[in-house]
Amino acid sequence: ITLKFLKKLQIQDDSIDILLNINSDDSKIKQELYLEITQKLEHLKQALTIDIQAKQAKKTWHDPNAKQQIKPQNIAPGIKDFVMISSGKGGVGKSTTASNLAIASAMLGKKVGLLDADIYGPNIPRMLGIQDKQPQLAANKASPILAHGVEVMSMALLMQKQQSLIWRGPMIMKAMTQFMQDILWDDLDLLFIDMPPGTGDAQLSLAQSVPVSCGVMVSTAQAVALDDAYRSMDMFAKLNIPLAGIVENMSSFQCPDCDKIYDLFGQGNCQEIADYFETKILAQIPIDIKLRQLCDSGKPIVIKEPEHKISKIYLKAAESIIAFLAANETQDNADIQPTIRDKPACSS
Ligand code: ADP
Repeated sequence: ITLKFLKKLQIQDDSIDILLNINSDDSKIKQELYLEITQKLEHLKQALTIDIQAKQAKKTWHDPNAKQQIKPQNIAPGIKDFVMISSGKGGVGKSTTASNLAIASAMLGKKVGLLDADIYGPNIPRMLGIQDKQPQLAANKASPILAHGVEVMSMALLMQKQQSLIWRGPMIMKAMTQFMQDILWDDLDLLFIDMPPGTGDAQLSLAQSVPVSCGVMVSTAQAVALDDAYRSMDMFAKLNIPLAGIVENMSSFQCPDCDKIYDLFGQGNCQEIADYFETKILAQIPIDIKLRQLCDSGKPIVIKEPEHKISKIYLKAAESIIAFLAANETQDNADIQPTIRDKPACSS
């Protein structure tokens, strides 16, 4: 427009007619322009489709009479399965687990995304070595960053470094829906979502916006972590989210000098909670210096050292999650609506 190349722009139904008159005969320039314009239009189309679907879903949710007129829509129908990674308290290794499980699933051939929804402590970019990357923005939508074969988005990539965010309930709820609507996720097999610790607005909002396919609980085996873990497991039940299992993190420590194994946080406690909620232990990850070092340097162990015994445990856990989802799949996810829409969580 600035260079006065644009001679005609006509929109009719779902087609757009654009005529450019450029002052060059170079076919390479023509082709580059053509490609750039068609790509931008494709992004816009995606964004608009998502907006329309979200508006329909919102209308249905707020207006009980609309239910008869419009079929409720899940706001991210392009994503096949959503895996909610939760923990009762912070610092138990939830983000470490989410990162390694997401990458492990990609290594197993799935198309995977990882959403760092831990808005209070978004650490995933650093754990994946992408903390200095800038997401591309177009038409108020952001493209995820590709890291270790996984599409990643995090509040840390969208806000200025080292800024604190003070969130109220409605802001958290809006952020959660925007993570689904305004991020240009590809059509994914799996989106792993690293939730803030505990049970609150973020969990509720997510469960109201998309059909969460399964939950994974991360805990250490110590009593105080488990008290909170019970609350989180109960939340999954109240939100009708099927539980794929528990990852017991920092479960033991092998002394590098004498090879003796110490159960730093106790033993068997996670099995007790798994039995209580009729689920299983997906993995027991030892406390390990290398795991922590690789994590801090942005190279998750599962991809950096796939033959390491901890990597093999993550890969096995990812396999179990994928198998759990396959066993529970009854219909195409795009047709499933968020489960609590017809059954408010607060009523149970
Ligand atoms: P959360 O997401 O629950 O707050 P993180 O995944 O951020 O916890 O982990 C907190 C810290 O503990 C990180 O520095 C991480 O590298 C380290 N960590 C997590 N799991 C282990 C483990 N099994 N062994 C050693 N360090 C770990």
